[in-house]
Amino acid sequence: MNHNQTEQLVACPECDRLYRWLDIPPDAKASCSRCRVELYRHVPDSLTRSLAWYVTAFMFLCIANLMPFLSMSAVGLERRNLMMSGALALAEFGMPELGVLVFCTSIGFPLLTIAGMLWLLIPACFGRLAWGAEFCYRWVHHLSPWSLLGVFMLGTLIAFVKLQDLAAVSPGPGLFAFAGMLLAYTAGRAAFSPEVFWSLKKVSRRRSVGGPHIRCHICGLVLAHGDHHCPRCESRVHHREQGSLEKTAALTLAAAIMFIPANLFPIMMVSKLGQGHPDTILSGVISLMQGGMFGLALIVLFASIIVPLLKLVVLTFLIYTVHKGVRWRPRDRTLLYRLTEVVGAWSMVDIFLVGLLSGL
Ligand SMILES: [Zn+2]
Ligand SMILES: [Zn+2]
Repeated sequence: MNHNQTEQLVACPECDRLYRWLDIPPDAKASCSRCRVELYRHVPDSLTRSLAWYVTAFMFLCIANLMPFLSMSAVGLERRNLMMSGALALAEFGMPELGVLVFCTSIGFPLLTIAGMLWLLIPACFGRLAWGAEFCYRWVHHLSPWSLLGVFMLGTLIAFVKLQDLAAVSPGPGLFAFAGMLLAYTAGRAAFSPEVFWSLKKVSRRRSVGGPHIRCHICGLVLAHGDHHCPRCESRVHHREQGSLEKTAALTLAAAIMFIPANLFPIMMVSKLGQGHPDTILSGVISLMQGGMFGLALIVLFASIIVPLLKLVVLTFLIYTVHKGVRWRPRDRTLLYRLTEVVGAWSMVDIFLVGLLSGL
């Protein structure tokens, strides 16, 4: 930690409480005393370590995409598929939007994120700021929440287990490489310290001693109130979302309304022996159960009905209590909110699953 950081302010990314930067021992982390979110951690050799992990992740990513992912053999026929086969199959079956979604979240965004981090970290390890670092950093920040690698991995494992009943399925080298990439990518993210990275760029800030402050949403720099532009990552700085409660309420209501037709109208056609009939989500779950595929039925039920329903209930509860200014257990309610955020992405698991199954 250099001198620049010692006199720096840190604001909690979630509740905005202001702290002075303190040096902490290696591998320790500092958390907000009010909402318990992590503020920063001290990773020794953060940039070099992070670079090593991202290089590993990049190599695994190439292998995962070029080598066979799953291979299936039944009645003497062997089929191999690649990681992108699922997305291609969805597009072929007349669901190009879904195919693009699967492609972006499992291959496109992870590739862009890893490439972006390499672009930032290679020069940074030599003490230099990359060309276009501000632009690149902002994009990595926006894209990385959409890299649903863990969710894709779960979908793959379920597809793998389920297909065992029907045919001899064996994992290809691509699948092992994908698991390796998931680990290396997670480790790279954990090792990266934004503060150490941005200490490469010297910025002059207006200090407002004792005055109100504002935190850059992208890089975390604490600025004097009234600044509209972050000098460090060059993003536009704004206050907490204007009318965020109203917006959330409107979007939650829209989601609740759409949730009804999504469950009442047919969502897919299941063709069995040439005969197709339309299926709603629930009847799909029931026919999966009748077919003896209880595990798969539970996953679809959980990912497509229970998780969205729980999210709607929790969000409605949070909006109501915040609107009424209820002071009941703020820390637990924050936890509840974070839970909906984490769980949300896992609703994608059955889409990945459908993609993988139709890819074979
Ligand atoms: Zn906080
Ligand atoms: Zn910034």
